[in-house]
Amino acid sequence: MDRLQTLELDLARYLAPFHARALATYRFDVVVVGGGVAGASAALAAAEAGSSVAMVAKDTLEETNTVYAQGGVAVVLGAEDSFESHVSDTLQVGCGICDVETVDRVVRGGPTALRRLLDRGARFDLAADGSIDLSREGGHSHHRIIHAGGAATGVEIQRTLNEAVRAQPDIAVFESHFAIDLISGANGRVIGLIAQTARGELVCFSAAQVILATGGAGQLFRETTNPAIATGDGGAMAFRAGAALRDLEFFQFHPTCLYLAGAARVLISEIVRGAGGVLLDKNRVRFMPEYHAAAELAPRDVVSRACFDRMVKTNDTSVYLDLSSLERNPHELFPHIGRICQYFGIDIARDPIPVRPGAHYMIGGIHVDVDGRTSVPGLWAVGECASSGLHGANRMGSNSLLEGLVLGARAGERASEDGRDFPLIPVDRRLRVERARAQGSSDVRLGIQDMTYSLKSLMWRQMGIVRSGRAIDDAIEKIGFWARAVQQLATPDPRSWELLNMLTVAHLAAVSAAVREESRGTHFREDFPASAAHWRAHTLLYPVAEGNRVRAVHIGREAVRDSVGVR
Ligand SMILES: Cc1cc2nc3c(=O)[nH]c(=O)nc-3n(C[C@H](O)[C@H](O)[C@H](O)COP(=O)(O)OP(=O)(O)OC[C@H]3O[C@@H](n4cnc5c(N)ncnc54)[C@H](O)[C@@H]3O)c2cc1C
Repeated sequence: MDRLQTLELDLARYLAPFHARALATYRFDVVVVGGGVAGASAALAAAEAGSSVAMVAKDTLEETNTVYAQGGVAVVLGAEDSFESHVSDTLQVGCGICDVETVDRVVRGGPTALRRLLDRGARFDLAADGSIDLSREGGHSHHRIIHAGGAATGVEIQRTLNEAVRAQPDIAVFESHFAIDLISGANGRVIGLIAQTARGELVCFSAAQVILATGGAGQLFRETTNPAIATGDGGAMAFRAGAALRDLEFFQFHPTCLYLAGAARVLISEIVRGAGGVLLDKNRVRFMPEYHAAAELAPRDVVSRACFDRMVKTNDTSVYLDLSSLERNPHELFPHIGRICQYFGIDIARDPIPVRPGAHYMIGGIHVDVDGRTSVPGLWAVGECASSGLHGANRMGSNSLLEGLVLGARAGERASEDGRDFPLIPVDRRLRVERARAQGSSDVRLGIQDMTYSLKSLMWRQMGIVRSGRAIDDAIEKIGFWARAVQQLATPDPRSWELLNMLTVAHLAAVSAAVREESRGTHFREDFPASAAHWRAHTLLYPVAEGNRVRAVHIGREAVRDSVGVR
């Protein structure tokens, strides 16, 4: 591939055939796609700013990445900590490519976001003196992680936001509605979207502003901590509608996911290593001190690579987390993990727990400014589906819930304001998209499940923790081929749309990984193991449209904004 140039693609602009005239149409000032921490924060802010809001979610409001969040939310509280320190820690972990203005804004927004959650009825764990208990995680130089129910922070945040959303009369919730595609009007402006209801009917949402908050894409990989909803729909949808994507090569792998045949890949959080858990290899050798001075508390990417390296060297399918020398009884400290392991014959007070890395967090995404505006008028993005510049090349633990709370609310407010200047443009009822199935293919059946599994395996092997140019180029070719086959052969339904979205994001992530010929943060290339000064920059992908197809992706590089507007 000619690096930093243009790669040919052939993507349909719209995944599903439809005729606007035949669709039931809802009209709202703002439509938010996604009901996790970012989407709910955006919807509430837009409604409070006076907009009528629709919140569309492909599952129930209870099934999001947010619900699974364990450790907590990073918020600067108390006299010993400072905004400057939290900003500095975030920049350090982000390996030189964070957007400083965004980091500053998110960090300073923490206390207000916490106040809003408390006002809405959230309950966080308290210290003995009645103040909010603060714990500490890798990368943070102070105790600043607020948490709820021990390691059930996400459940409490989602519960609080769901109750607030359901109590807000200006938000209409559409659960089990799969958003398929954004609708573009004149000049490419986004003017609504097409979704499928649980009964299989297509409906149209007409809106002055659309906010994507569709979460991450952990399902691209065979091993992941993410739930089934995390298929990258927002990024793929935005790209088809003309939006630029940024830094897709950066995907964070969590080093310690429970690895037991038959058990879900439950994340075993840093807190367990923070409490004194040590990592052993098959020969019961503690290996982390050989890889980093901070041993088990080194940054996540370092621990993930060390675990991976050790698994290869010892020819084992996992490494082991040993809690036997903790001062307190591990069952009391980590009852949830203890219970799960017990079912599989493991006593965590005595037996080492088999763990291995898994895909955890999508750092790159839809390119947005500090308010959440994408490169396409009328379209916004927040939360894990967006690339706001907060995380740079590596995400610091507990910063993403904070991002969803702070930037979600900001995008909701701004979208509501913009809606006053750009009122709703009705969708042209003559808009018609025909089905593009390959000629003579009616008797060819496609194994969606099989291809999904092939993609996940390929991504794990060739776009996982350790990458190389040869493996990435091979991935680009294979994924491109599969994407063409799915477009030509699949029947239009949510499973095939999800697969196409996954193939699109995977393809573009591999393209970004191919051009970044260096290692930085979560992106490690064995053929370019060092960071390169000229790559202290972002990768940008712009779709090139032609009629109702996206014909190519133009690959660019954007300089890092260092200090714009920082207080
Ligand atoms: C196991 C685990 C532990 C974590 N722990 C922490 C932690 O302690 N602290 C922290 O800061 N972060 C943590 N994270 C990361 C954090 O949870 C996520 O980054 C964050 O919750 C993402 O929020 P979101 O609102 O962007 O997306 P989500 O919460 O994933 O919500 C996405 C929403 O989009 C909807 N959606 C997606 N596609 C479509 C479509 N096509 N049509 C309609 N709706 C759609 C979904 O239904 C869902 O409602 C953790 C993540 C995991 C998986």
